[in-house]
Amino acid sequence: MPLDAVLDRLDKSRDDMVSTLTDLCRIPAIGPTNGGDGEGKKAAFVQGLLKDMGLKVERFDAPDTRVPGGKRPNLVVRLGKGPRLWFLCHIDIVPPGDSKGWRCDPFDPKLIDGRLYGRGTEDNGQALVSVLSAYRALAKTKEKPGRALGLALVSDEETGSALGLKHLLGQDLFQPKDAFLVPDWGMASGDEVEVAEKSLLWLKITVTGKQGHASLPNEAVNAHRAGAYLLTSIDANLPRRFRATDPLFRPWTSTFEPTKHEPNVPNVNTIPGEDVFYFDCRVLPSASPKEVVAAVQELAAQTMQTFGVQVKVEVVNQESSPPTPADAPIVRELLQVLRKVRNLRAKPVGIGGGTVAGPLREEKYPCAVWSTTDETGHSVNEYSRVDNLVADAKVFAALMMGPE
Ligand SMILES: [Zn+2]
Repeated sequence: MPLDAVLDRLDKSRDDMVSTLTDLCRIPAIGPTNGGDGEGKKAAFVQGLLKDMGLKVERFDAPDTRVPGGKRPNLVVRLGKGPRLWFLCHIDIVPPGDSKGWRCDPFDPKLIDGRLYGRGTEDNGQALVSVLSAYRALAKTKEKPGRALGLALVSDEETGSALGLKHLLGQDLFQPKDAFLVPDWGMASGDEVEVAEKSLLWLKITVTGKQGHASLPNEAVNAHRAGAYLLTSIDANLPRRFRATDPLFRPWTSTFEPTKHEPNVPNVNTIPGEDVFYFDCRVLPSASPKEVVAAVQELAAQTMQTFGVQVKVEVVNQESSPPTPADAPIVRELLQVLRKVRNLRAKPVGIGGGTVAGPLREEKYPCAVWSTTDETGHSVNEYSRVDNLVADAKVFAALMMGPE
């Protein structure tokens, strides 16, 4: 079996894969929004790896005057003709955070107990090395990919993707029948394939009353009291009003969380004239974010009447994307490969978080988000489990070889 030879090759490439991921981790690639100087050096290194594999690299860099060289690199490799399966990975990372909490220098990775520790090893270096190694294993065993392939290795994923994936979406690069695999989310069990995301809705609620001395409450309008009342009524009302469930999702309801609260007065004996708080709402596809905003506005109107305050409800962020059907060919094929290569009975799931799949699904591209991780991305002591690095490469190699 040709696939067996490729999988065997990957088992033997374990040390090479660790050493490539180590090299990669040594080059920080932090976007300027997070205080870094961009992905230029890391992209040059990755471009070298691709060239060594005999691949022709196309650059779709996005201008950005904030970084040396003035560009945010996006590397693209296109192989074969026809509808393409794209592997989308990002080369940027987040800052290491509390450097004293790390068990090694976050940019000088250490292999301890089968885990390679370092910033960006799991998010998204693991996937990048797995994808490249999968292709290399095909080449070394003289197997041809069974389909047209694309590799898109992008910048700016950690700070909004405007100069990464969203830049590529404006380049006439992707074709209507293309499909995407995004290995940038996943469980330790490896048996969940993300096909849907809840709509994200951030609300800012500003309650305005009249400031005054705490000894003379009749002459003031306490915005904090009205705000607290409104917060608890939103909190009690929305889950009842939007009570639908969807078993695809975890958690399987829409969620409405009061989160940030802005400071009001610094002293105890002043009645606050303003109260500002936020809700983070994650809404199932069966409800619309518009209906949620309308429900909050209704409650705000009641609060205005009862307390004599003004209330402003603002949408400060909103993202939603249509789900990829659970029976889309890329999803079905990935489930089959997981069964064959990893002996996993995987299932499609929806999540509350947002990934880079969002903008792809908005453009109607079928998109499966999958990888095997210990979910250490962004945390102190991020690591990539070497078993996952190799096991995921096997799945990618099988996908590259195409349906039998
Ligand atoms: Zn990531």
